[in-house]
Amino acid sequence: LVERMRPFGTTIFTEMSALATRTGSINLGQGFPDTDGPAEMLAAAARALQEGANQYPPLPGIPALREAIAEHEQRFWALPRDPGCEVVVTAGATEAVAAAILSLCEPGDEVVTFEPYYDSYAASITLAGAVRRPVTLRPVASGRYGFDEAELRAAFGPRTRLVLLNSPHNPTGKVFTRSELGLIADLCRQHDTYAVTDEVYEHLVFTDAAEPHVPLAGLPGMRERTLRISSAGKTFSCTGWKVGWATGPERLVSALTRVKQFLTFVNAGPLQPAVAVALGLGDDYFTGFRDELQARRDHLTAGLAEAGFAVQPSDGTYFVTADIRPLGGTDGIEFCRELPERCGVVAVPTQVFYDDRAAGRHLIRFAFCKRESVIDEAAQRLAKLG
Ligand code: PMP
Ligand code: GLN
Repeated sequence: LVERMRPFGTTIFTEMSALATRTGSINLGQGFPDTDGPAEMLAAAARALQEGANQYPPLPGIPALREAIAEHEQRFWALPRDPGCEVVVTAGATEAVAAAILSLCEPGDEVVTFEPYYDSYAASITLAGAVRRPVTLRPVASGRYGFDEAELRAAFGPRTRLVLLNSPHNPTGKVFTRSELGLIADLCRQHDTYAVTDEVYEHLVFTDAAEPHVPLAGLPGMRERTLRISSAGKTFSCTGWKVGWATGPERLVSALTRVKQFLTFVNAGPLQPAVAVALGLGDDYFTGFRDELQARRDHLTAGLAEAGFAVQPSDGTYFVTADIRPLGGTDGIEFCRELPERCGVVAVPTQVFYDDRAAGRHLIRFAFCKRESVIDEAAQRLAKLG
């Protein structure tokens, strides 16, 4: 293994899912739903398999899916895209993030991102020979997560190539506010950097969130410098399909595609038409899915509070974080390793997503993208902790 990849062990998701299987625990660690997505989408995939859509799709994705992605982006975010040259289909958001970084960063370039960060970010930045400049999110007075403006300003410098922003944010459930996005956009313009936005949870912002989701690409001067990334996995409960995409100005999409063609070339031939169908579903699908997840968030949040955790409010995503200190915990890794034995539930320590480990030492993440009955059972088990 090359030296620069040696610090990266097995991902925490793999470790914790294996622990859940070994101990027969309820897995609220890895974020994947335990029910299938919309029936229309599943039927379209079955049809495509039977009707012979089983060979390589075109490099940027099948036209029907690129058109559906462009229409979706216009419909929900008022971002016009040319499906002919401003949209590319990828093997999940993960590949899109990797290809974006690999196509934009020279060795030694710096990437500003917020920690805790999604685990593939650090690995992709390292693979590119680039350097991460994390800005720490911390619980602030509102009870939500915030960051220090001076720390963000200081993270930008002459080597900054891009900002990698995830909002709604995994694992904190934070939805970046318009004023925070405005500051990020100002800094991108001032330092003439790119932005790569990971918006895989774009449809999972709850009705009581402090602010709605706003794509950074929609802010003044940002469209021409931003690659916007999303994925079918979260919105349509098909995380195993690995169908994602990136949209942006032609020069950035074509740079990303140049790299992407040598990572996977193409993927998911028979699933692409099905995702096109899903993206075209009526608004009631998207709001219904959000409402369902919101009810589960409320249910799990109540269970965690009852069990004695200090729960951080989650405005979006599949996740809620909790402070273990009221339960006498000090180290999230230790706490999560012992949790299955103590009560038969698996969670994920978020400190592994920080460079500044002390900042996240006492925080752990629970996924609520699970059936009501599963959350109910988990809440009952967690109640035994107190
Ligand atoms: N980004 C974030 C913030 C995520 O939470 C996830 C999935 N958990 C991904 C990217 C990966 O998405 P995909 O499975 O489409 O590669
Ligand atoms: N994105 C999922 C999560 O945050 C996990 C994906 C993975 O296992 N790499 O839980």
